[in-house]
Amino acid sequence: MNFHKLKSTLRDLQEPNFRYKQIVSAFCKKGVLDYSQISNISKKLVKDLKERIKPLSFSAEKIYSANNNLSFKARLKLNDGELIETVFLSPLPGAWSACVSSQAGCKLACKFCATGQSGFKRNLSSEEITDQVVFWKHFSREKKLNGNFSNIIFMGMGEPFMNWDEVKSAIKQLVDPEFFGFGSRHISVSTSGVVDGIKKLANDFPQVNLAISLIFPEDSLRSEYMPINRKFNLKKLQLAISSYLNKTNRKVFLEYVMLKGINDDLKQADNLIDFINTIENGRKLLHVNLIRYNTTMVEFIPSDLGTVNKFKNHLLRKSIKTTIRKSLGDEIKGACGQLAG
Ligand code: SF4
Repeated sequence: MNFHKLKSTLRDLQEPNFRYKQIVSAFCKKGVLDYSQISNISKKLVKDLKERIKPLSFSAEKIYSANNNLSFKARLKLNDGELIETVFLSPLPGAWSACVSSQAGCKLACKFCATGQSGFKRNLSSEEITDQVVFWKHFSREKKLNGNFSNIIFMGMGEPFMNWDEVKSAIKQLVDPEFFGFGSRHISVSTSGVVDGIKKLANDFPQVNLAISLIFPEDSLRSEYMPINRKFNLKKLQLAISSYLNKTNRKVFLEYVMLKGINDDLKQADNLIDFINTIENGRKLLHVNLIRYNTTMVEFIPSDLGTVNKFKNHLLRKSIKTTIRKSLGDEIKGACGQLAG
């Protein structure tokens, strides 16, 4: 919702000041999209608002549900016709997370990523980002999903640090108690390694979680599959992570998508260990998440489970904190790297 427009509209309609807060709270905290469901609002005001302000900046084209009802994906049509996708999933019993998109498409063109291969359309506005959260609040109320919607992950379509001004405004509203009131530590930003962005996150939101899609702990391989590495190579990334850890003392997740025959042998595990060892406090604060590739591109195959376990045990033996991340949403093509609009 465009809150500036809401404020000026209510002023034009000579509504009392508290009305703005009342509508913002119903929209952001409860996901109410129908003005008539907000208590103590006159029929006349409901009619006026319906005529003047659309609650959401998009319409839902299609919603996909996994059979276990633990993950959902929505394809949304923005007002200019561009399509984005957003995911709602329950990684733990009783806890729900929204995985939001920050761009329609992505310029960074990682080879294994459906979004990257679909090209770049445009940045999303902060309104289009926070509306995805409202959309899932509304959805979970309507569906009567059990549990608490507590986490937001910027891991949908796009690289959040390539649209930082809008992402930053969105996060400000998400943590603002007058709007959404999410805890900063319940918000995560995932980057492909945009070094400037890591610095900005440490300055702007030191309590917001950072995840880095490392995936290739060797420059030549990383540059081949993730072109961003040609600008911000592993050395630059190491320095950025070191200063982030020094400043925040927060745990950082290194995401490692495992691709059969490409980055899943023990030589790469050793490269990953070397990468972590050169970072001050790396052993203490870095946590490796191994993720089996979710098939989207025919030329990439997920690593075998046995290989993933071997890789994990090798890292654990060298005292590197490592987990294998359960992949939710594969069935609805809503898992990491599968969103394409
Ligand atoms: S992995 Fe992330 S940064 Fe790379 S192309 Fe996909 S959305 Fe963009």
